[in-house]
Amino acid sequence: MSPPALPPQVHVIVRDWLCANSILLRGADENVLIDTGYVTRAQRTLELLQQPQALGSGHLHRILNTHGHSDHIGGNAHVQRIYGCRIAVPAGEAGLIETWDTRGLWLDYAGQEAERFMYDEIIEPGATLTLGEVEWLVMAAPGHDMGAVVFYAPAPRILISGDALWYNGFGMVMPETGERPALRATRATLEMLSRLEVALVIPGHGRPFTDYAGALERAFSRLEAFEADPARTARHCLKVMFAFSLLHLGRLPEGEFIPYLARTPIYGDIGTRFLGLSTDEIGKILLRELVDGKVVTQQEGFFVPVNVREH
Ligand SMILES: [Zn+2]
Repeated sequence: MSPPALPPQVHVIVRDWLCANSILLRGADENVLIDTGYVTRAQRTLELLQQPQALGSGHLHRILNTHGHSDHIGGNAHVQRIYGCRIAVPAGEAGLIETWDTRGLWLDYAGQEAERFMYDEIIEPGATLTLGEVEWLVMAAPGHDMGAVVFYAPAPRILISGDALWYNGFGMVMPETGERPALRATRATLEMLSRLEVALVIPGHGRPFTDYAGALERAFSRLEAFEADPARTARHCLKVMFAFSLLHLGRLPEGEFIPYLARTPIYGDIGTRFLGLSTDEIGKILLRELVDGKVVTQQEGFFVPVNVREH
């Protein structure tokens, strides 16, 4: 079976790591945008949405979110202000958003930001939605985010996977003790995904891709590594969180690095409580992995992210 071309009514706005991809689904009666990027890029999200090949001068009726992380919901409030559109969030995220639980949403807890908004509708896993003239199944995809959903269109065999599956892996899973429910959920989600017939994946980050079997294989092997070594999961989370924060901050004075780690609760929770490290030790691990890994570089007294393109 040859992979389908993207249906003309589906337009993917590929972004970067700070902003998740946005997916525009144009229908006869309704135009819908899935995910809206990071708050500090909300105006750019709007410009990309309004390009002629995307929405142009058309109207946006609804925003849907795959899950409640800052790189997916950050532009909701701004886009809604412009279009007066409705916002629909997965049922598992509704409580966090309604109470604006900044810890549960990984906002100030993780040194991230989003503009507060309120949802108008709840998306229930198991529902079928017609978006862009295509029928999509809403499927629960817990793990990276326990309330996340993916959207699956069986006829064109397209999966909008959010952070549940990327070309290389999936969104970080918070370290846990005991039964490790998030890691178990990640496995169940990957197993559920592996039962779907998928010809094209539109991931939350990275370009759409067709090698579904390969992506699942890579995701399972990453998961196995995390399952075998909880400390590795934790170190990975520290690294991902700090790299993301640096994208958001743009740069951080070297002298601010340790105070930043000390005042941002997630580093204490993962690094100190989970891994038993002091803040200085967390800093050393981060620098070793990120600077050696060429994710972060040092320039004139600042830490800056490497090779970040603005989309
Ligand atoms: Zn996420």
